[in-house]
Amino acid sequence: MAAKQVYFFGGGKAEGSAKMKELLGGKGANLAEMSRLGIPVPAGFTITTDVCTYFMKTGGKYPNGLKEKVNTALKKVEKIMGSRFGDPQNPLLFSVRSGARISMPGMMETILNIGLTSATIPGLIAKSGNERFVYDAYRRLIMMYSDVVMEKAAGIEPKEGKGIRQQLEHEMQKMKDAKGVKFDMELDAKDLKRLVDVFKKKVKQVLKKDFPNNPDDQLWGAISAVFRSWNGKRAKAYRRIENIPGDWGTAVNVQTMVFGNMGENSATGVAFTRDPATGENKFYGEFLVDAQGEDVVAGIRTPQAINKVSKSVTSKHLPSLEELMPKLYDQLAKTRTKLEKHYRDMQDVEFTIQDGKLYMLQTRVGKRNGLAAVRMAVEMRKEGLISEKEALLRVKPEQLDELLHPMLDPKAESKADKLAGGLPAGPGGGVGQIVFTADDAEAQAKQGKDIILVRDETSPEDVHGMRAAQAILTAKGGMTSHAALVARGWGKCCIVGCGALNINASKKVMSVNGKKLGEGDWISLNGTKGIVYDGKLGFLPADPEKNVHYKKLMSWADKRRKLGIRTNADNPHDAQTARKFGAEGIGLCRTEHMFFGPDRITAMRQMILVDDEAGRKKALKKLLPLQRKDFIGIFKAMNGLPVTIRTLDPPLHEFLPNDETSQKEMAEQMGVTVEAIKEKVQSLHEANPMLGHRGCRLGITYPEITAMQVQAIIEAACRVAKQGVKVHPEIMIPLVGTKAELENQRKVAVDTAEMVLQKNGVRIKYLVGTMIEIPRAALMADEVAQVAEFFSFGTNDLTQMTFGYSRDDAGKFLPHYLAKKILPADPFQTLDQEGVGQLVEMGIQRGRATRKDLKVGICGEHGGDPKSVEFCHRVGMNYVSCSPFRVPIARLAAAQAAVR
Ligand code: ADP
Ligand code: MG
Ligand code: MG
Repeated sequence: MAAKQVYFFGGGKAEGSAKMKELLGGKGANLAEMSRLGIPVPAGFTITTDVCTYFMKTGGKYPNGLKEKVNTALKKVEKIMGSRFGDPQNPLLFSVRSGARISMPGMMETILNIGLTSATIPGLIAKSGNERFVYDAYRRLIMMYSDVVMEKAAGIEPKEGKGIRQQLEHEMQKMKDAKGVKFDMELDAKDLKRLVDVFKKKVKQVLKKDFPNNPDDQLWGAISAVFRSWNGKRAKAYRRIENIPGDWGTAVNVQTMVFGNMGENSATGVAFTRDPATGENKFYGEFLVDAQGEDVVAGIRTPQAINKVSKSVTSKHLPSLEELMPKLYDQLAKTRTKLEKHYRDMQDVEFTIQDGKLYMLQTRVGKRNGLAAVRMAVEMRKEGLISEKEALLRVKPEQLDELLHPMLDPKAESKADKLAGGLPAGPGGGVGQIVFTADDAEAQAKQGKDIILVRDETSPEDVHGMRAAQAILTAKGGMTSHAALVARGWGKCCIVGCGALNINASKKVMSVNGKKLGEGDWISLNGTKGIVYDGKLGFLPADPEKNVHYKKLMSWADKRRKLGIRTNADNPHDAQTARKFGAEGIGLCRTEHMFFGPDRITAMRQMILVDDEAGRKKALKKLLPLQRKDFIGIFKAMNGLPVTIRTLDPPLHEFLPNDETSQKEMAEQMGVTVEAIKEKVQSLHEANPMLGHRGCRLGITYPEITAMQVQAIIEAACRVAKQGVKVHPEIMIPLVGTKAELENQRKVAVDTAEMVLQKNGVRIKYLVGTMIEIPRAALMADEVAQVAEFFSFGTNDLTQMTFGYSRDDAGKFLPHYLAKKILPADPFQTLDQEGVGQLVEMGIQRGRATRKDLKVGICGEHGGDPKSVEFCHRVGMNYVSCSPFRVPIARLAAAQAAVR
């Protein structure tokens, strides 16, 4: 472990910097950086994440000499501040704050007002001349410390609702009730003084320990508790969701307290340097006068807007900081500019005003939804803050998904019954059934229900349920509340501060403007506008093309990417959607779906039932015009773009019914006995259908199937070509493992195609190629390429056969593999670059060794996964193909790969 374990900051200097996030955590690194920038930051020091790791490994020990190092730093802080920790005349108080490498909002602990004891209280009263403030600070210390240090860190798990914090809150409520007041602020110094005595007794009674009255005990108790909070329940759950490694650890920041609760001249707030919901370049934030710490986020009082543009339905009648304290607002706005210029990104800041003086307490890159991310990236580029490349890297490809998200159908909205309004904290539409607790949300979502989690406010304990829900609705809280923050990070539909909700969570009911709703009732949210509707409204697909910022960003992406982007589509509608999203062709058109339609499944089954070639041909004749029609539609939709069509792939038994009733029905329809059907089903039964009679093996045993499909393809091509459509068919033979297999199918395809072309007197260029999805085909790619005009890596099957995991059965063990970290990720979602990737790379190299300009693409699920797209770029593929809604994601991912 490094010798340096404590990093000082303050007074315009710092030992750390923004680059040291791994060691100092995000909060510590940025406190250091702000200090260096000359931004007023209360002095303090950061204990490194290394110490946390050591602490966890040793079961709660500190490295030798840490105490001395902390004391040295502490002395330095005391010198700068001109006051002393524990000094009865001139006491210095500390906050002890967690801060990991990546921000984990509210997941770990922070304790304020450390150092208040019976000895220092009188001193602070004398110094501040404000007794009320001191007792308010003390009651907060007791609440936080008993909860975080004496209960949570001690491993005590109280019963629901019986936590020490709740019990103390209950005492405070009792006092307010007795006095007949509503707000904390309405308790005066005398009340609070009485309250802290009640608190201390309660702490002793519940936790069987005295509240510590020694500043050093408080400090070290807090430091240890913050380190321990890294392994707290919430933090662990959050890390699992966000995929954050458990061994990073948190840093601990010990920082001089500044007080936003010293009266009318003091305040505390949070702000974003740009609007995190829309991305608009306006300073956005909320604050509270005479308040401390999390009051703003906790939704105890309605926060006020920092300026006019931040005003919302809930804060419009309250004065803004700009109006109340114009000079300080001005200073804050200047700090905003300074921070944005320096960090070159949107910042999320915390500030406190102590008796007319502004302090910055935190800055970090602000979370934003997809819509805002796109807008900020494009505008910052235009402002010259970042380069075009950086702009491209600023948006996570997955975030684009939000722009493609369905919105509530405006027609349905206009007719719907509007229940209430709130703040639009997360865009898009959300439709689902009400639940009132996070656990219920998780449980019911698991049953496949669409859930809307409705709560007074959310807390970090709720994240699992928030994750599971379609959308989140809260009665309290502003745009910087926990719910808003978390939903924004996930790009989830969310409305907060919906004051009209009257929730009774224990009875699982609520009333909204006179209407009663209970668990399971349907509601619909317009998260873009902040409107709640009664009932289950319909969705409308989003139209990203109307978003100028999106269009700009994508134009930059298209300019830079080397990979082509195609789509997997097997009907004209999907093809059109994909084209709208920027697809440059179809990379995989599966034909099996074309056999399932009600107008054709009978013919398909007839073909399967008959045992002779003549009978099969007769049945296929019925299918021919239907398939041709499908292809005509698709070719028209993709006018000018290539369309890769795969011949029949799945085993035939998939087309026959398995249950008795459907078998009877089929028998009647076909005029055969049920037994005949059952016999056929029996005869088609395979022990390992995934490795059985499927893919080109079908086409080889029944060449008439391949012939019919190719005939349909080329006839369709001829027909649309005559109408002026530019058509580029590519016939793709699946599941090839040897050159001879492909040769066989290629001959059938070419013979048929030539015959059709000749008959039509048209010349259309078509290609015959293959999927590479059997490991042997990748190994023998040089030979296969002698016959194939293109390769398309079918990485679903290739993954299945390389790992030897049946895709249909992997659900039984893959979750365990992921939980036990036997696999880092689901290889069916993210390409296994090390293993399967080798086959892909080898296949490309060997294929191109034979055929220099061999066109190569990918058509598995991986084509829309950003990490896999990056791999495809690296190994020199020509294109990736993915589902229509992943097309924009793949475009951006491909550009990022090229830029990187
Ligand atoms: P989180 O990581 O959960 O945001 P923080 O460490 O930022 O936790 O602390 C939460 C809040 O406590 C801050 O937003 C701020 O209002 C308050 N706080 C923390 N440190 C200080 C301090 N030195 N002086 C005054 N308030 C503080
Ligand atoms: Mg914070
Ligand atoms: Mg396959």
